[in-house]
Amino acid sequence: MLAARLTAPGQLALEEVARPVPGPCDVLVRVEACGICGSDRHMFRGEFPTALPVTLGHEFSGIVVATGADVAGIGVGARVSGDPNIACGCCAQCRAGRPNLCPALSAIGVTRDGGFAEYVLVPEAQAVLLPADLDPLHGAFCEPVSCCLHAIDVARIPRGGSVVILGGGVIGLIMVELALQAGAGAVILSTRQSARRALASDLGAAATLDAMGDAVSTLAELLPEGADVVMECAGVTETVDQAIRMARRGGTVVLFGVVPKDDRVLISPFELLTKELRLESAWLNPLTYGRAAGLIGGRVLSLDRLISRRIGLAEVPEEVAGDPVPGEIKLVMTP
Ligand SMILES: [Zn+2]
Ligand SMILES: [Zn+2]
Repeated sequence: MLAARLTAPGQLALEEVARPVPGPCDVLVRVEACGICGSDRHMFRGEFPTALPVTLGHEFSGIVVATGADVAGIGVGARVSGDPNIACGCCAQCRAGRPNLCPALSAIGVTRDGGFAEYVLVPEAQAVLLPADLDPLHGAFCEPVSCCLHAIDVARIPRGGSVVILGGGVIGLIMVELALQAGAGAVILSTRQSARRALASDLGAAATLDAMGDAVSTLAELLPEGADVVMECAGVTETVDQAIRMARRGGTVVLFGVVPKDDRVLISPFELLTKELRLESAWLNPLTYGRAAGLIGGRVLSLDRLISRRIGLAEVPEEVAGDPVPGEIKLVMTP
């Protein structure tokens, strides 16, 4: 079969590899769709640890075509998505119900072969069933939605409260929908691109801020006391600083965007203290994959608006190696 293999930083190419054979507890999935994620570009550039060589692609869905001898709960023909993050199940973090913090975590499309291929192996325990008639492109959103759901859980949005989302990429836009469903009274999204601000409004945002301007002052005109919850989804130091300044007294800041490892932010402990801010972070998707599949299977998210372009497997290396096209939100590969 064909697979997009990362062999060294900067070296990603289509290769002919053997079609994987399921072990006793695995299912073999024929990939129908796999989203291209910012993390794929980080892995390509060597900015995020991987086990090389590896087939990238951690946001996939497809059809089960073979099952291992001990697989009992999933049959051939089922449409599934695979939770890429595989925790050991034995360590102190796993036993405490925090598998996202497992020090032995492995991940499909990161440390083991992923979904930028014709077929991918998924342990049965990682596979989540999707409705048979679901648009396969939507199934590829289970992973990003599951991570966003964890951030929404961590945020504990007060019913009717105000939520500011910093960053208008696919994550920020999914967060607009999830925050409203979680009971936010008003969601305000800040981003530089006007097309994304318009889309956020269509998805239900009460207002949008131009991140190129002074977003903190503009927000102060809308919410003089600040926001109940600010979710940092841009992954840059400027927005981490803005998030702290935008939160109201007694408010919550959730760090979600991945800021480059060596970046630092100057924060004011005095401001944190006197505002009694709850400064939180949300990493990966602990125990949220089934709920993400439930939301997607229940068609309660507007996902079509987030898909900018479909590409073929052969185009994956070039797209991952290149910079995202301005204005595009999500690319999805269909083999
Ligand atoms: Zn991703
Ligand atoms: Zn563990």
